[in-house]
Order: sequence, then structure tokens, then C-alpha cells
Amino acid sequence: MKRSPFSGMGRWAVGIDLGGTKTIVAQVSDEGKILGKRLLPTNASAGPDRVKKTLVAAVKGLMEEADGPAIGVGVGVAGQVDAESGRVKFAPNLGWREEPFREDLEKALGLPVLVTNDVRAATWGEWLYGAGRGCNDLVCLFVGTGIGGGVVSGGKVLTGCSNAAGELGHITVDLNGPSCRCGNRGCMEALAGGWAIAQQAREWATSDPEAGALVLRMVEGQPEKITAKIMADAAKAGDPLALSLFERVAQALAAGAASLVNAFNPCRMILGGGVIEGCPWLVKKVAEGLEERALPVALAPLRVLRSRLRQNAGVVGSAALILHSSEKG
Ligand SMILES: [Zn+2]
Repeated sequence: MKRSPFSGMGRWAVGIDLGGTKTIVAQVSDEGKILGKRLLPTNASAGPDRVKKTLVAAVKGLMEEADGPAIGVGVGVAGQVDAESGRVKFAPNLGWREEPFREDLEKALGLPVLVTNDVRAATWGEWLYGAGRGCNDLVCLFVGTGIGGGVVSGGKVLTGCSNAAGELGHITVDLNGPSCRCGNRGCMEALAGGWAIAQQAREWATSDPEAGALVLRMVEGQPEKITAKIMADAAKAGDPLALSLFERVAQALAAGAASLVNAFNPCRMILGGGVIEGCPWLVKKVAEGLEERALPVALAPLRVLRSRLRQNAGVVGSAALILHSSEKG
């Protein structure tokens, strides 16, 4: 049996990052190190009971490999979570509504479980163990298919009145801008989220096939196959259409980030998520845009950084939730 290097040496917790298509389950030390990790397809279409059974099996598997017991399980879910009960109120990517989650996992595992929103968990991870370490005022902006994030202010992760704080993607950056999935117009996400990048690219490439020639070649002439990832690859190849699209993305992110910087006066603005991983140069562009847009008093202490934990921010942060809550209790 494989022995964990952490066996018998200290406290550890399980972190779970439950996404719409894939899930990461990890053994995380109280220093934020990943000691063991499993990648699983979420298989959401099989229903919540099946998903929970798969998670329970993965957690038990990790515990068998370690000597000491886990102190608990933290889960980040792509959806809205009731803070009190740990119920998943709504998770569109999983097709879950009012799903008892913490309760079911606790029963099956006999361990304390905490459930939070996935980007909130990732914010915990970056704050305690990543690019935000040692800093008590920061904003994390995760640019993936959608845009979300978290705010740490005065050493507290903001949760809001109904546990919904962190919907940073729905800051309006263009009053008359494109429609957003939330029903509003001109949200930062509607200009810079992965889904919006793909949608805009399809429109531009089909309305001007000459400018869209490279992109259309990359998807074998099928515009519906254009994704944010394809556009990032096209930008890397120097394609002018992709470059101008990402210029717009950078401006939207900088405009949204400027509002956040002015509102919360963070020491650090941390950018992560799939779009940033695909186009890391966006971090510098956003920093430049912030110089033009944010108030000098808020800009003076600010550092703009790329996420350090990358795709592990969610599991490390979920585990951190439980490691730090048990410290207090
Ligand atoms: Zn919106």
C-alpha cells in the first residue's frame, strides 16, 4: 500500500472540487500541500445519489492510503450553497436543486463536512496558501466559462447577507453591452467569460470570414466548434481577430477589476481560471488597464498577480475551510 509522506505526522483534510464535468478529490496537509489526489468524471447525469457515492468511495480510498484519519472534508461546489445546512440550493451544471449534501456525506463518512461555493473555496486556497498568503485584503477573480471570485476584507472572506457574495462577474462594465446569462446586460462576464468569448468569436468569424479565416480553419469550417481555448490558441499564433477579441476581454476585465479595487482597496488582485491559464498575458494587460482606471489612492499598494495554486486552488481551499474551522473549535 502506498504510504503518504504525511502519515502520522500531522493534521490533514480532504478537499473536493465538484465541477459540472470533472471532480478533484485530494488529501491536503494543514500546510496546504497536496499529498494525494484523484481526478474523476463528475457524471452528473447519473443523478446526485450516484455522484455522492462516487465521492464517498474516493474519500475512503484516500483515507485507506493514509495512516492517520482525516479531520474532515471540505467541498467546493459550482453552485449556490446554504451556509447553515450545507444544502446545495441550486447548481445548474450539476442539475441539482435543494440537494442535501453535507448531511448525506457526513452520514456516509462519519466525518465533519463543510460545503461552500467553488470560487469561494478557491479564494480561501489562494488567500491561505497561494498568491494571497500573508495578506488580509485581497480580491480573487476567476475567469473560466463564467466569472466568479471572492473578496477577503480585513482578514475575513466576505459571505454577504444570503451567502451569495462573490458574483463578481456580474459587475456592469457596459450599460448597453451584450446580454448576460443572469438576465442583465453588459456584465463583465458577458464580455470576458469563456462562454462570451466563444459567442463573440463565432459572430465575428461568421460575419467576416476573411478576418476569421484562421479561426474557421482551426474548427474545420464549423463556427459552432469555436471555444475560448481555440481563441487563446489563435491569439498565440498572432491572429488579428483573436488578438482584438482578447483586447476587448482585457478592457472588460480591467473595468470590472477597477470597480473592485475602488470598492475594496485590496493589497492584491489575484487572477485565475481557465481563460487566464490559456492567456496568462491577460494579467499584465489587466494591471495596465487598472493603472488607467482605478483611483490612485487604491492603486498605490496594489499588486496584480496570477493565481499560484492554479487548478488546485479549489481543493486546497476546500480542505483549508475544514482545517481552519476545526482550529477554532
Ligand atoms: Zn450577468
